[in-house]
Amino acid sequence: MSKVKVVACSGIGKVFGLMTREAVLEVTNHLVPDKAETVCLAHVVTGDKAGSEKVKGCTCITVDGCPALCSAKSVENAGGIVKASFRSVDEMRNHRGVNAGTATALTEDGWQIIDEFAEKIAAKVNELAEEE
Ligand code: SF4
Repeated sequence: MSKVKVVACSGIGKVFGLMTREAVLEVTNHLVPDKAETVCLAHVVTGDKAGSEKVKGCTCITVDGCPALCSAKSVENAGGIVKASFRSVDEMRNHRGVNAGTATALTEDGWQIIDEFAEKIAAKVNELAEEE
């Protein structure tokens, strides 16, 4: 069985983009490394065949920073099967008023939010891996 692809967006201007990358790395490096792996979104969107083949026909989870959904749209365009889509901006709605950090560094509170966020994504990985 191939691993579930968990793909973060490439947002760099606000904390939401940093949150997507840190959450995805927590999932693929620590929580479920045997069931999930990540793919560089930039390589997927270049149109390069080697990039799109990393997601084409694969079960994918996308993690975006905002409603623009760059990862979800790009992965779908490349032929990935997006079975679940998360947004860090939604995660922050559960933590109104909390300072999660900046575009380049998370606060202690921000890391706690990432832990919770990553657990949710990992639970979905486990669910999808069981289905396959
Ligand atoms: S989804 Fe939002 S934060 Fe992420 S790359 Fe697109 S515009 Fe930037």
